[in-house]
Amino acid sequence: MRKRVGLTGLLHHLNPDVKGVFVGEGYTSALAKAGVLPLVIPYLYEEDEIHALAENLDGLVLTGGEDVDPTRFGEEPLPGLGEVSPERDDLEYRLVRAFMERDKPILGICRGMQVLNAALGGTLWQDLSRQKKRVLQHRQNAPRWHLSHHVFVYEGTRLASILGSSEIKVNSFHHQAVKDVAPGFIVSAVSADGVIEAFESREHRFILGVQWHPENLWRKHPLFYSLFSAFVDAVQQSC
Ligand code: MN
Repeated sequence: MRKRVGLTGLLHHLNPDVKGVFVGEGYTSALAKAGVLPLVIPYLYEEDEIHALAENLDGLVLTGGEDVDPTRFGEEPLPGLGEVSPERDDLEYRLVRAFMERDKPILGICRGMQVLNAALGGTLWQDLSRQKKRVLQHRQNAPRWHLSHHVFVYEGTRLASILGSSEIKVNSFHHQAVKDVAPGFIVSAVSADGVIEAFESREHRFILGVQWHPENLWRKHPLFYSLFSAFVDAVQQSC
């Protein structure tokens, strides 16, 4: 039977009376191609539902989206903070813990990386351009598949072995980023301005976060498919 990977998504309001989950097709198609069954995770809040999700799914992908509520990592909201989704923060924080307890693979993309870090005791830049000096433009004005800035991958990291390269170019659609890395994690890649662009756990089977959007790149730049296939390899190996 195919292994099952759950994806979190945006709580999208179609109109004031109708809301539901939105997950970009780039994520689900990459996972299906890599050989697992991608399943969109509904907005459920009961503790037994969270644990049933973690029991029944073999891996978790935290997708891109809104900002993380800074009061969740011990800061007051500052000017420059964007839209926050309390429902999504709540759901994803609890899913991260439930999957981690079971040592099931987690891949965090953009907001997903930030949520992972905040949920596990790290902090975030609420708005890079207001808080950090001399930063690059991390919100590119170009198609989603365009590679806009360089990223330097640290030797000896899992990310380096996945990508097989120490310098790559990535797309960039973020204004927040990891500031203090959560305990047990190491930085795997940075951009030229020192912004953390990827990190990974040293203590788990597979927990990796990237700040860019491989789901918008893999069709045009096959190198980025390797992130999904490496994650799926870890999922396939788990029992
Ligand atoms: Mn960037």
